[in-house]
Amino acid sequence: MDRPEPSAQGILGGTFDPVHYGHLRLAEEALQALGLGAVRWIPAGRPPHRGDPLVTADERLEMVRRAIAGNAAFQLDEAEVRAEAPSYTVTTLERLRRELGAVQPLVLLMGADAFLGLATWRRWQELFDLAHIAVATRPGHELDIAAMPEPLAREFRVRGGTRDDLGSSPAGRVCSFAITPLDISATDIRETLGEGRSPRYLLPDPVLAYIQQHGLYCRSATHGS
Ligand code: ATP
Repeated sequence: MDRPEPSAQGILGGTFDPVHYGHLRLAEEALQALGLGAVRWIPAGRPPHRGDPLVTADERLEMVRRAIAGNAAFQLDEAEVRAEAPSYTVTTLERLRRELGAVQPLVLLMGADAFLGLATWRRWQELFDLAHIAVATRPGHELDIAAMPEPLAREFRVRGGTRDDLGSSPAGRVCSFAITPLDISATDIRETLGEGRSPRYLLPDPVLAYIQQHGLYCRSATHGS
């Protein structure tokens, strides 16, 4: 008798500096729209693509922990934060493959802005050997094939698939899916806090409480003093 395919597992990496409702809706809507069994949240330790975050990796991890508490389908993966070396998505996926085996469908989740920059990621073409990629719409970032660098546009054309493809093979397809448009970014939240304004209702209250308790981001120098 055939064993049933394991349900696809979503992977959401990010700096989460701080985590906000844009991230939470992306993960929640991916669960439903793509039929995922779970979403694994992986805060980056030392993200290679950008300057150092304003708060420590442990603080970003703790904010994600508070944001996803109570959702049984959300799991927190601390490995990148605990690692000594900078985090690369390809090495994280290699680790997950060792952990979960070759058959488990994995779906790397990202917003359109992240996907448009994918061709700058380390060993980016190998990502498709390790996982599917599902790209969520994001306000201000059109997933326009004409705006993609040619190697990425080629992968997007050749690997284009639907939700059903994601569950029926372990890796290799790309699909896009529409989510509730929320024009929220961590950058705006950091600026708001840095200017002494309130970001309430852009992120969960327990995350804001943690930020206030620890005086995070108000020590930001984004706008000088
Ligand atoms: P920053 O403003 O600091 O660059 P960010 O808000 O984009 O941060 P990240 O931690 O860099 O947050 O994002 C992690 C992932 O979540 C990325 O794939 C990004 O595209 C996606 N994402 C973040 N915010 C949204 C949003 N509002 N809608 C859809 N996707 C989002």
